[in-house]
Amino acid sequence: MKNPLFLWKNLQLHNKILIGLILGILAGAILGERILVIKPLGAIFLRLISMVIVPLIFASIVVGVAGLQDIKKVGRIGMRALIYFMTTTIIAVTIGLVIANVTKPGRGIDPQSLESIASGLGEFHGGEGEGSKKSSESVLDTLVETIPQNPLASMADGKMLQIIFFAVFFGIALTRIDADKARGALALLEAVNDAMVWSIEAIMRVAPLGVFALVASIVGAFGISILLPLLKYVLVVIAGLCIHGLVVYPLILRLFTSRRPGEFLRGIRPAQLLAFSTSSSSATLPVTMDCCIRRLRLPQGIASFICPLGATINMDGTALYLGVVAVFISQIFGMDLSVVDQLKIVATAVLTSIGAAGVPGSAIFMMSMVLTSVGIPLEGIALILGVDRILDMVRTSVNVTGDCTAAAVVSALEAKGQQKESTPSS
Ligand code: ASP
Repeated sequence: MKNPLFLWKNLQLHNKILIGLILGILAGAILGERILVIKPLGAIFLRLISMVIVPLIFASIVVGVAGLQDIKKVGRIGMRALIYFMTTTIIAVTIGLVIANVTKPGRGIDPQSLESIASGLGEFHGGEGEGSKKSSESVLDTLVETIPQNPLASMADGKMLQIIFFAVFFGIALTRIDADKARGALALLEAVNDAMVWSIEAIMRVAPLGVFALVASIVGAFGISILLPLLKYVLVVIAGLCIHGLVVYPLILRLFTSRRPGEFLRGIRPAQLLAFSTSSSSATLPVTMDCCIRRLRLPQGIASFICPLGATINMDGTALYLGVVAVFISQIFGMDLSVVDQLKIVATAVLTSIGAAGVPGSAIFMMSMVLTSVGIPLEGIALILGVDRILDMVRTSVNVTGDCTAAAVVSALEAKGQQKESTPSS
């Protein structure tokens, strides 16, 4: 028989992460709260990934945008990405609304019986500050806030949209100044970019252990039993997310690219698994970019622009989830939502998912906006808080899949455009 260490070494990274994840679930379920001693291991892993985010995004966007050479092209890619983001998000909420209306997970549930599980489970929801701050901002405020007053402060605070804005601006500026002078800055940023890519690969070697620790502590703290009273609701959300992730995205890929969906999904699996274990599209970002550029071989200029933008404003899984939640809570309280109400939900869910930060649990803060838009009691949020973390894991994987699909679609459209330009019309 072969040495198990040898077998492990020869496994592909995504399979190693998958094993870490499965063992984590088992360890959490068997050992319960005792497994929480390994929680710091998960935290160390998360910090290591977060460490590379700001230098990676900045360097790779500047290098990517400067490489595109043409402002019109940057604008076109941005526009295409925005149209894609909006369209898929609308599809996602609609799926959420339809599936919840059809399956009616909230009918027959007594709100009182759920209150017992609604107590103080917010501990694992990091990033509350950012989520709650964002929920009070209007879309216009977000637009104004995208422009940094001090780019270094934005970097220090990790303000993603401001960093993206400055990096795009800086990248364009470098193509406009004297090429000899620009060369030095570009060479430096290229080196920073390469060094960060190397760092991600190095950090990902410990990903199986990090994922194991993260998942084991989540399952250990919450226990699988928390799912039982809300089982139907949980299954409905997961079914909706599966439809979006496994049917809608593959269809979009088929329509707009020549990629095989299976290959595509295999290519981004490390990012999906990490999104699942961290519940944060922002924390997953370095790996998302790595998957798009190295595994899917998408052009760096496009992937390094779309992935960070997507991680900040494109949240299909979150939007779908908000749709189901609104219908579910309204059913629990015996309310009937009219078609106009449901359209309002689509609009607010799309806008709030743009404002949601890519951190664990940020959808909870967005929920209040969606629910108040149609007068659903906010107390309902407490009822679903207990199972939010589990659903956050799945919806974050969908969010990240959406970002990668966007990068693949826009790359394919750009490539087609270029082909047309270079083939003289007959
Ligand atoms: N955790 C999600 C993300 O980071 C956001 C959410 O739905 O709460 O993508």
